[in-house]
Amino acid sequence: MDRFLKNCVYYGASRIGELPFVRARLAARAVIILFHEIQLDCRSELMTGTSVSLFDFSLNWLQREGWSIVSLDECLERLASNDRSRRYAVLTFDDGYRDNVSVALPILERRHAPFMVYVPTGAPTRSMQSWWLGLRKLFRSRDKVTIDALGRRFHCADFRSKMLALEEVIRWVHQDYRHAALLAPTFKQNDISLPALNEEYFLDERELGILARHPLVSIGGHTTSHAALPTLDKFLARAELVDNRGYLENLIQLPVRHLAYPYGDWGHREENLTNEAGFQTAVTTQQGRLNDNKVNRFALPRIGVYSRSGFMARMSGIIEAVQLLR
Ligand SMILES: [Zn+2]
Repeated sequence: MDRFLKNCVYYGASRIGELPFVRARLAARAVIILFHEIQLDCRSELMTGTSVSLFDFSLNWLQREGWSIVSLDECLERLASNDRSRRYAVLTFDDGYRDNVSVALPILERRHAPFMVYVPTGAPTRSMQSWWLGLRKLFRSRDKVTIDALGRRFHCADFRSKMLALEEVIRWVHQDYRHAALLAPTFKQNDISLPALNEEYFLDERELGILARHPLVSIGGHTTSHAALPTLDKFLARAELVDNRGYLENLIQLPVRHLAYPYGDWGHREENLTNEAGFQTAVTTQQGRLNDNKVNRFALPRIGVYSRSGFMARMSGIIEAVQLLR
């Protein structure tokens, strides 16, 4: 859907969701919020993260609407004990970006807001095939980009065409994650180093060790290589989970009990493997809120924050309600 039209739909839905009788009908008890990067300059990063103003807006909105920000453990405990006295929001950040510490942490400290950071082993060890960072750098730094594997040549001299081209190639990778490996020659030709981008954008081992000791922080798993688990055979998928948990526990010397599926991609097999690997919960990128204690702990939905109106519409439950009616 066109970006403008989508925002109009979200705006309409968010206003309907504010009506008292709609709010009462669609009330939820808990929600897990999904963030990646919290960027000081979204434009220079081709609008791929959450701006500080949108981050602040979402936190102010939660506070104003009576959502207490709690850790994932506390949220699940309260759901299990059927505590209906408050509504709970859990803040989660995927991948372990540096700006989670340099930008988000001071804001969260001022609010005494606990949060979870899901870390793939390949980020701090700099071995991750972070193709999305490579593509962003490619389109930021070049006005003409040829992606041979896709059979496309992009002329992208201005901000809007760069953004659209980046979105198109990202969509192509999401269609089939084997496409990611086909980008390697393009990165090589354009002198783009994924280990260098990992170094630039992701927290290192020392920084993660310090972050894990922060009283507001929990560290969760996100697999070893950030592979889409359903694309792997059972043994590789299991190793991605077990090895990542072992690596993180050894690094931070604390138990790691929670997981985020890379790309939010999972099925029943992944739920069982995650359980067997010793994790107690797993979050997806399926949009939704938690309504009662009968949640599937290995397929917890989250709400992503991409725009003010989209966030409010999703938080109101109106988008979920419409999807259920379909
Ligand atoms: Zn991720």
